[in-house]
Amino acid sequence: MMGQYVYSFGNGQADGEGSLRVLLGGKGANLAEMTSIGLPVPPGFTLTTEVCKAFYENNRSYPEGLRAEVAAALALVEKRMNKGFGDQQNPLLVSVRSGAPASMPGMMDTVLNLGLNDHTVTGIIAQSNDPRFAYDSYRRFIQMYANVVKGMDGEILESLLERAKSSKGVTLDTELSAADLKQLVADFKACYRTTLGEDFPEDPHEQLWGAIGAVFGSWMNPRAVTYRKLHSIPSDWGTAVNVQAMVFGNMGEDCATGVAFTRDPATGENYFYGEYLVNAQGEDVVAGIRTPQPINRAKHKEGDLPAMEDVLPDSYQQLAKIRTILERHYKDMQDIEFTIETGKLYMLQTRTGKRTAQAAIKIAVDMVQEGLISEKDAVLRVEPAQLDQLLHPSLDPQAEKEVIAKGLPASPGAASGQVVFNAEEAEEQNRLKKKVILVRIETSPEDIHGMNAAQGILTARGGMTSHAAVVARGMGKCCVSGCSDIKIDYEKQQLVTRSGHTIKKGDAITLDGSTGEVILGTVPKVQPAVSGDFATLMSWVDKFRRLKVRTNADTPHDSQTARDFGAEGIGLCRTEHMFFEGDRIQAVREMILADNLAGRKSALDKILPMQKSDFLNIFKVMKGLPVTIRLLDPPLHEFLPQNEDDMSELAHAVGMKFSEVKAHVEQLHEFNPMLGHRGCRLAITYPEVYDMQVQAIMEAACELVKNEGFEIVPEIMIPLVAHVNELRILRANAIRVADEVCRRYGVEVNYLIGTMIELPRAALTADAIAQEAEFFSFGTNDLTQTTYGLSRDDAGHFLPDYVERGVLKRDPFVALDQRGVGELVRIGFERGRSTRADLKVGICGEHGGEPSSVVFCHNVGLDYVSCSPYRVPIARLAAAHAALQDNR
Ligand code: ADP
Ligand code: MG
Ligand code: MG
Repeated sequence: MMGQYVYSFGNGQADGEGSLRVLLGGKGANLAEMTSIGLPVPPGFTLTTEVCKAFYENNRSYPEGLRAEVAAALALVEKRMNKGFGDQQNPLLVSVRSGAPASMPGMMDTVLNLGLNDHTVTGIIAQSNDPRFAYDSYRRFIQMYANVVKGMDGEILESLLERAKSSKGVTLDTELSAADLKQLVADFKACYRTTLGEDFPEDPHEQLWGAIGAVFGSWMNPRAVTYRKLHSIPSDWGTAVNVQAMVFGNMGEDCATGVAFTRDPATGENYFYGEYLVNAQGEDVVAGIRTPQPINRAKHKEGDLPAMEDVLPDSYQQLAKIRTILERHYKDMQDIEFTIETGKLYMLQTRTGKRTAQAAIKIAVDMVQEGLISEKDAVLRVEPAQLDQLLHPSLDPQAEKEVIAKGLPASPGAASGQVVFNAEEAEEQNRLKKKVILVRIETSPEDIHGMNAAQGILTARGGMTSHAAVVARGMGKCCVSGCSDIKIDYEKQQLVTRSGHTIKKGDAITLDGSTGEVILGTVPKVQPAVSGDFATLMSWVDKFRRLKVRTNADTPHDSQTARDFGAEGIGLCRTEHMFFEGDRIQAVREMILADNLAGRKSALDKILPMQKSDFLNIFKVMKGLPVTIRLLDPPLHEFLPQNEDDMSELAHAVGMKFSEVKAHVEQLHEFNPMLGHRGCRLAITYPEVYDMQVQAIMEAACELVKNEGFEIVPEIMIPLVAHVNELRILRANAIRVADEVCRRYGVEVNYLIGTMIELPRAALTADAIAQEAEFFSFGTNDLTQTTYGLSRDDAGHFLPDYVERGVLKRDPFVALDQRGVGELVRIGFERGRSTRADLKVGICGEHGGEPSSVVFCHNVGLDYVSCSPYRVPIARLAAAHAALQDNR
């Protein structure tokens, strides 16, 4: 039966399928899919996300007809299981599980063992012949129900459990007898009544609807809301609810539960990676209560507990087969949950596994080689933003380091920072721009905001599949988990290592997420490189993209770094940075302070050879690739000292009176320097400044062509043009100077003169401006400021509120505002091309390395984006994604 709100699955048949994830949520869609391809999945049904939407739209009530559909679906599960819900002799128990269209691990709620009451528990005892198991399941159910459905503080019942154990003189839950647990159930219920003022519901149907309501309700719990915000998941998607027959991993020594990845999620290595626990249920593996055991021998280390491969060989072999079936079917690495009930294996979940960037690349490249996916698929498998992880420094292998503890290498990368012991503190310190390492015994979903604020995460408990490990990998954060070498004392705000070191809050440590090492102090890091699988993937990337990628670089060193990352030219070389170097600033100041042309020219003559050598060195590194050089842009006051001591020193150095220097500084003061006398406006007043720069550029180019014999086409860029007349005048000047240099050297050097489009007026009049420009480069930083009327330097105070409150979805200085600023880019591009068909067009703002902005630039039709050296690979990959998505 195909219901409107409810989809059933079980015994090889399913109403739904994997493609329905928007409707059924990821979990529900994949349970249906696994059922259809013949995998052993306990039967159940899914209440769709439509129900969730209706639930919130109608003041938390359900759409009509839902109850009847649920009743029918439940009857089908009873039939498939040959059990009765609430039946005393042969009771059906179910789990009620959340499952959104996008995976949100651990963020929402699940209730297990539902259907237990004082009657059905006797049936479970009779069937399992195991009263201990029955009462253990019962007490777990009451705990979960009280907490998840009724919002009762989990500590309350947990403390009763602790008390029961200490009065028996035991430490482990498993050491409590059936009688102890039976008593505990009674105590739990009494406590439930006194705390909540009502009885624990004995009616399984009341339990079921309570749990369904709670799971839909958990869509709006604070940690789910935060998680969605961090991962840009729309809040109107809603979650589905899955009701599924329970299977028991806690019924004895031939039972187990586990989680696994079909490949290693940290490195991408092609082996079956997972953890399991004998005689355990549900979350026990991820909760870090008991140390989980590895599923196979492949990575077995001394001291590890026995592997499932050895303990439950038949189930292991079956699981290994399922691993292959799943990978062949989904053609991607899967993250699975399984349970073994008295020797019989059940699949409880599969989803695309989260992985580090390193693993994403290795898996994509390997799967191409295995013939599972195409090169195009491989390129699309890796998220551009994720590459950021690989473009960060790792620990310098030469550096000395004092390793004080070792844990599991849960998420690679290296991080240093001051130790903090809770999420709030991490956030607080982060706000103060301090780098911190969050240290916890184990993390829970409540900690995600702190994990997000930290450089790295260290936990004392929990395996590679623990909450901390999974979330850190998703965030691309370095994480060392399960570090049993450390003892954490939250009260004293310190940790003590087995090696005897005491680390207090605020002390610096370094984590190496690739080895699991915890190191004293701050360790130097080395720069990353593109090699191995990363290089292979990038070679495919370059086959598919149309957009060129250049870099913003002002020095030969940065230019070389960018070339190594695959930059195809320089899109923005800022000349003002060169003005600050060494003794140049002195000459620059002389030039500014001179009150006549002759004085300025003689100062400029001193700067000329220095600028020329800068350009020469950059041209050499770029070996014939295009280089766009922006002529002087900032207001002059930025080059003068602002305090009186420095002014008097300067006065002394240039032989002027202090009062004269001071007067100059005051005269240059502007109310809004960003909108003041800067960019081409300076050159309209003092054309000799740009003349000197053009001369330096062209002399460098001529010398190279003459002496080294390689081609170079300098692109001379005039900033902050608002009106075509500015450009007309300055272009004529530049041509005069450039041609004069070529004549003097007796060589032919091609050069282009163009402009930055960074003011709305320039974009709107681009047709006129293009008649004077051979290229455009959109300076989207300034264009964002001037379009929004928002100063980048001041926006920091309030822009975060805008994003926080959802006024703006993203900071427009980070991701290009496509609707507004982007519209000006589009207009500028189209109008520019309308009067000059071969106009070269690129962008050189920070946006040039931000994936969504790169895709936008591709779609508009720009020739290139330019970004900082370390983001070049990200931009290349984003450009390939744009091109591949375009072709679909
Ligand atoms: P999450 O999305 O937080 O992983 P799940 O819905 O997957 O939540 O459930 C939590 C735990 O309970 C998992 O370990 C899962 O395998 C286990 N579980 C859920 N349903 C069942 C079931 N029907 N039988 C046995 N274990 C279950
Ligand atoms: Mg959970
Ligand atoms: Mg799960």
